[in-house]
Amino acid sequence: MSDTSKNLAQAIREKMVLDGKRFWAGDNISEYITPEIKHTLIDEATEAFELVLDRLLIDRDNDPNSSGTARRLAKMYFNEIMSGRYDPKPDATAFPNHTDERYDGMLVVRSELKSMCSHHHQPVTGVAYIGILAADTLIGLSKYTRIAQWCARRGTLQEELAMDIAREIMAATGSKDVGIYIQAVHGCCENRGIMAHSSLTQTTVLKGAFKEDAATKKEFMDNIKLQQEFAPR
Ligand SMILES: [Zn+2]
Repeated sequence: MSDTSKNLAQAIREKMVLDGKRFWAGDNISEYITPEIKHTLIDEATEAFELVLDRLLIDRDNDPNSSGTARRLAKMYFNEIMSGRYDPKPDATAFPNHTDERYDGMLVVRSELKSMCSHHHQPVTGVAYIGILAADTLIGLSKYTRIAQWCARRGTLQEELAMDIAREIMAATGSKDVGIYIQAVHGCCENRGIMAHSSLTQTTVLKGAFKEDAATKKEFMDNIKLQQEFAPR
């Protein structure tokens, strides 16, 4: 029989259902989370991971390497590998792109990505190339990577991740011209199933001029190749 006493996670789930709020593995639910709430949720998840270890017949009482594993897992999910679900969007201070000395070129930022597939909770490791034609506002270069990481630190599918990063970069910059190219290796392909160590997955999302203008698209892809020569993976 399962424990029917109501926990905080259940109360928050019920509230999200009432609000019509989607809470899939790739969704951000930070409006429901405070530091105090997160603390309690980690305690509750610790108990749940203890049960999983028990069901896996792992002797967490006597195995010193497994005694703190449930809490480590709970903290890792909330604070690290799924932190992009619980933390608010990184603050991206915008600077005006002055019309007298307006930057009207393409910007391509290369961002390391650490994510996790929502199917198997296996690591996804790769790199995103974020291309943008500047609009009326610019954001600090490190913010592109912060926003990409915030989207990645959830349970994701690579196709969704590329679309999420495109949407959030467009929202932060006001630009309608954005290109996202991701290449990543998936733990679920390397560690299980087909055990393919060299599999590399590529996804591309193109918006505005990146999609409609052949010269812009070519410049983006050429820039990616230049970056890969400089920092190959
Ligand atoms: Zn997977």
